[in-house]
Amino acid sequence: MIKDKVVIITGASSGIGEATARLLAGKGAKVVLGARREDRLEALAEEIGKAGGAVSYRALDVTEPSDNEAIVTLAKDRFGGVDAIFLNAGLMPSSPVSALRTDEWNKMVDVNIKGVLNGVAAAMPTFLKQKSGHIVATSSVAGLKAYPNSAVYGGTKWFVREFMEVLRMESAMEGTNIRTATIYPAAIRTELLDTITDSRASEAMHGLYEKFGISPDRIADVVAYALDLPADTTVSEFTVGPASQP
Ligand code: NDP
Repeated sequence: MIKDKVVIITGASSGIGEATARLLAGKGAKVVLGARREDRLEALAEEIGKAGGAVSYRALDVTEPSDNEAIVTLAKDRFGGVDAIFLNAGLMPSSPVSALRTDEWNKMVDVNIKGVLNGVAAAMPTFLKQKSGHIVATSSVAGLKAYPNSAVYGGTKWFVREFMEVLRMESAMEGTNIRTATIYPAAIRTELLDTITDSRASEAMHGLYEKFGISPDRIADVVAYALDLPADTTVSEFTVGPASQP
């Protein structure tokens, strides 16, 4: 049951994270929001609080291990524990390899890969101590299949897939009762395309998203489904996107 679960959400200031925070809080979860834009978190927390939800937030840069540790501490201090962490923060400055946007490659590695590792490293000690926990991560359909302009982005999301699947297997083998769920969204209308600086990639992506994009609420539904499963059950992978997108 989701009710009263304490759930940390990274990348909660917009898009999928924001939609998930709103939905889970509406179902009675205690949500702890993190992202860099604190003003957005404050506004969302105020909205959730006014609707009767339990919420806390703090500025979080997932590339900083100490920020990740601090949000776990916040959840424990405010709500007495952590039941789940949704590792959702990410960037997608797509471009062809030949554009050599090495600064953007590094940013994607830092946020999409190291950000996930930092979140897991921060939450795991609590989950191991509790002998329970649920780790949900946002990969992408680009982590399942190759797409032009997505060599590095897709690589970071492929990493998430690999890491989460091994974590699932090891948790089962070690009997730690830590469950995982990895989500592979296709075109979801959020602010994600705003980070694209390459004009060719931007044009291609905007065309795709305008044609097919669906609401981030659909991904929130899947996170809620995963967290609602009985403790003895894991659905470890969800591919979710517009019914009309080939
Ligand atoms: P948004 O751009 O709307 O949200 C991205 C979120 O990540 C923001 O809240 C942003 O917050 C946060 N973020 C970025 N960098 C950092 C950082 N260093 N530290 C903490 N938070 C950070 O896009 P989406 O909601 O679409 O993206 C959410 C996830 O979904 C991403 O991992 C993305 O790759 C994935 N995804 C999205 C798809 C889509 O079609 N939209 C498809 C497949 C996967 P802030 O800037 O305030 O820090």
